[in-house]
This record gives sequence, structure tokens and C-alpha cells, in this order.
Amino acid sequence: MNRFIVAVTAAMLMAVPAMAGVTEEDLARDQQTTGDILTNGMGRDLQRFSPLDILNRDNVKNLVPVWAFSLGGEKQRGQETQPLVHDGVMYITGSYSRMYAIDIKTGKELWQFDARLPEGILPCCDVVNRGAALFGDNIYFGTLDARIVALNAKTGDVVWNKKIADYKEGYSYTAAPLIVNGLVITGNSGGEFGILGEVQARDALTGDLVWSRPTIEGNMGTFMGKESTMTGTLNATWPGDMYKNGGGATWLGGSYDADTNTVIFGAGNPAPWNSWLRNAGEKNDGTGDNLYAASRLGIDPATGEIKWHYQTTPREGWDFDGVNEVVGFVDKDGHKKYATADRNGFFYVLNREDGKFLNAWPFVKDITWAKGIDANGRPIYIEEGRPGNPAKAADGEKGDVVFASPSFLGGKNWMPMAYSQKTGLFYVPSNEWGMDIWNEPITFKKGAAFLGAGFTIKPNYEDHIGSLKAIDPMTGEWKWEYKNDAPLWGGVMTTAGGLVLFGTPEGEFKALDDTTGEVLWSFQTGSGIVGQPVTWEQDGEQFVSVVSGWGGAVPLWGGEVAKKVNYLNQGGMVWVFKLPKQLAMAN
Ligand code: CA
Ligand code: CA
Repeated sequence: MNRFIVAVTAAMLMAVPAMAGVTEEDLARDQQTTGDILTNGMGRDLQRFSPLDILNRDNVKNLVPVWAFSLGGEKQRGQETQPLVHDGVMYITGSYSRMYAIDIKTGKELWQFDARLPEGILPCCDVVNRGAALFGDNIYFGTLDARIVALNAKTGDVVWNKKIADYKEGYSYTAAPLIVNGLVITGNSGGEFGILGEVQARDALTGDLVWSRPTIEGNMGTFMGKESTMTGTLNATWPGDMYKNGGGATWLGGSYDADTNTVIFGAGNPAPWNSWLRNAGEKNDGTGDNLYAASRLGIDPATGEIKWHYQTTPREGWDFDGVNEVVGFVDKDGHKKYATADRNGFFYVLNREDGKFLNAWPFVKDITWAKGIDANGRPIYIEEGRPGNPAKAADGEKGDVVFASPSFLGGKNWMPMAYSQKTGLFYVPSNEWGMDIWNEPITFKKGAAFLGAGFTIKPNYEDHIGSLKAIDPMTGEWKWEYKNDAPLWGGVMTTAGGLVLFGTPEGEFKALDDTTGEVLWSFQTGSGIVGQPVTWEQDGEQFVSVVSGWGGAVPLWGGEVAKKVNYLNQGGMVWVFKLPKQLAMAN
């Protein structure tokens, strides 16, 4: 016990390095400092809210392009990144694990880094990357062969390069890393390959592992190179040895709540998808809940110990990954809360002190698997909404097919929502779609798909799949809805100027009125937008940027929906816009 405390102290000392460049204080104040963008989410609570109001509802029609930058090469595919802006430089990550540093004034490339990806990488859902992290003199990003790389931000030279997990076993990495107190904190991807979800923290200076925390009960965490504590209780909610490769991938990265000093990561689907194999089928008594898959985890950043957990989909059986971003906010009565919109179609509000469930409401229209969420935060299941048990089928091969909504790509997938401090509303990019899903037998094989399920995605409506909703976190009420033909797959940003900015797969970058949903401005970027917009101030002018480049999971996994969007062109272009000073006052 004593040794443990000594080790904690050592880690905390190590976590306050004396170095130039971006500091912990800079990261903590990122939202307020409007001249730069240092973090994923424009602040580590992931609000994606800018206090800038130079650009507003009245003058947004005067927003014009300043420069554009091509990511080049034959390697296009989905561009899901969020730009960072620091010290006159924009940093962009691209598909196939590439990074670019660009002169913010001219759009000229300063350096480019291409990870040398090995043959045989196993990204499930396109070769995307969702952004980088700045700290000290370095910039950090993850690669598709499940590595985390530190580059010198000035030169692009490799400072260190560490393995998160073995790509041959199905692991990859696509999220933006999170920096807290000098630690680089990462998750892992690969939930469709029977991997084990884990959060890891490394010394940002050296890349040395400080702690690791598996997300599935029964697996052991580490601290400073030694075993620390077990996650959960062995076999409490998992049968036999299945916990060893039980999924729970932490593939979307995390947020940080400075008020409670808590890192929050979500854990993906339990593996395999066929829930009957995990004791998760017929009983609803907690024994088949498969903790902590499909959950949010509050973690102590100093030690990697789990402080709280909340499971959105116990005994999950539809690929409702619990990874969606947890956004810290203060409600209109002054209460500190978290909000998260889950793949399963429900929008949750949690207590920020202990992660306890407060309330949940649907954010999509046609949920088939649960009637609602009870007072304890547990879904009220509709048992007929669960895909059937193949062991009970006449041929023992294919269980009863059910129509489930939302589809496995979720009421909301990876694309981040935004919170406006001005309106007190969340702006949630959602999709109205369902699927036929059935279960099949499956046995675990390292590095192979581990599903035990088949599926076909279908639109729920003729005239739209995409649906951006303004949601009141006090009541769950939808204040307005903006419908889009193709599924929405990019991030949302709000500003104090009364704007909601986001892009569509059809290529339009749009600014909406935050109180009415009215389209105030739109610009065609030439390829589909699945990236995440940002805004900053430079020489008294407000700039906005988004990366355009169609791709992501929809064209690969979208069934009938994929056919509907197969006309969309690929791309790879950074777009930068500004409101010229002389037009700021124009109407
Ligand atoms: Ca900033
Ligand atoms: Ca999944």
C-alpha cells in the first residue's frame, strides 16, 4: 500500500514537466483563449463552443474562403479530423495516418508526416484519423497500426513512437489523444475483432507507460510497470473466460473534467455481437450485463483507477457502443452535469460528481429495443426487439431476424455534438435509420472478425436520414430539427455569435441560427464533410475551418443506405474561411 502511494507521488511529480511550448494551464484555458485551438473539442470538456461573436447571425453571409489545402496523394477516403491552431500553424491529421503542418496565413505546407503503415492493418470502419493533441513542444497522434507518435511540432521529426497494442490482433487507433497533467491518454479501436478495450496513460515527454486500465471486468490494470487493480469483479457479469477478449473498445477517446479531476472514456460493444453467447440473452437480472462494455467510465488520471461507471446498454446486443463523448456543462440552475448522446438513441444527463444517472430522453424517433430508461438508469427493454438466439433456430444457424432502430451505426455515431453556453442547448448530429439484424454462431479467433451477427441497414424515412437536433438538457425537448438527405457523419460547433456550424456528406458547410435552425449560410466544399469545424480569432478577424473528404463507416457498412450515397465523391481538402474586417459590420 505504501509503495503504491509513493509511486503515485512520483507520477504526479513527473506529470509537471518544466518545458516551453503548450502547458497544462494553456490546455485548461483553451476554450477562453480564442486565438488558438489546442485541444480536441475546443476545450477538454468537449463543448465545441467558441465565445467568439465577431461572426454572427447578421454577418455570416459575408463569410468567404481564404485558402484551401489539398491532402494530396491517392490516399483519400474519410477525413474526420479536427484542426488545431497554435503559434501561426494549423495542424491537420489525414486518412492513412498522415499529419500536416500548414502556415495559418498563407495555407502553405510547412511539413508532412506519413506513418509507414504495415501490410495487414485491420481498421474496421475506414482509414480515418480524428485529430491530434498539443503539449510542450510536441504534437501527438495515433496511427492505424495502433501506435501513438510524438512529433516535434516545429519540424515534424519523430520524438518517440510507442505501440498501444498489436495490430495483427485487430487493434487500431483513430481518436485524438487527450493530454492531462503531462500524460498522453489514449484508448484503442478494434471492437469488431474480439479485442480488449483499454485506456492507457503515458508520460508525454518520454512515451513511457504510466498506467493502463482495461474496460472489461476481470482484467488487471497496471501502474508504473506493475499490476495495480482488477477492473470490476471477475465473472460477476461475464461467463467463463469470455472477459479476456470481451470488446469494450475505447475507440473515441475521452474528455476531462477539471472540476472533479476525472478523465471520462466510453467503452464500446461487448464481443461478440451475439448477446446469447455472453449469458446476456434471456435473463434480465444483471448477471449478463457484461460490465463495463457499453458504459462510460470515470477514471482518476493520476492512477488509472475507476471512480464511477454508468452502463447505457446492459447485455448489449445491437452494437450500441457506449463510446459517445461525455460533455461537461453547467445547467441553467447552476448544476454541474454531463451529457452524452448514445448510439442506442437516448440522450443522457449524468451527475458530474459521481457519474450517477439523472435523466434520459430519446433523440431519435423510432427506438425499437427499449420503451425508455427507468429511474435507476436501466433500459426498459422490449424483449421482441432483441435478435433471436441461433441455438433455438430450426437449423441452429440463424436466429430470428428482427427490425431494430436505431441501426448499429447508431442514433448517433462518432460525430461529436456541441453545447452552446449562450442557448443552453445541445446540438446533436443524429441519424434516423434502422436495420434487419440476426444472430449466428461464432467462435473466437485472434485477429478475425468476432460478431456472430448479420445485418442490413435501411433508412426509416424517404426524405431524410440525417437529423441535427437542438435539445434542451433540462427537459429533453427538441427545440428544432434540421433534416438532411444523407446520414450526418461530421462534428458540430456552436459560437456566441448565435451560430451552429456543421457539414453534410453532400459537401455543404452550413451555418444555422442556433435558436431556429434556419440556414443562414452554406458553402459547397467539393467533397462530403465528415470533419469537425473550428473557429479562432486572428488580427481582429474571425476565422472558421473544416476539412472536407467523404468517407467513414457509412459507405463501407451502410447496406441500403450505402447504395443511396455511392454517388458522393471522395476528397481531402482543408477549407479556411474568414469574415473580412470591412464586412464585419455589413448586413
Ligand atoms: Ca484556445
Ligand atoms: Ca462496435
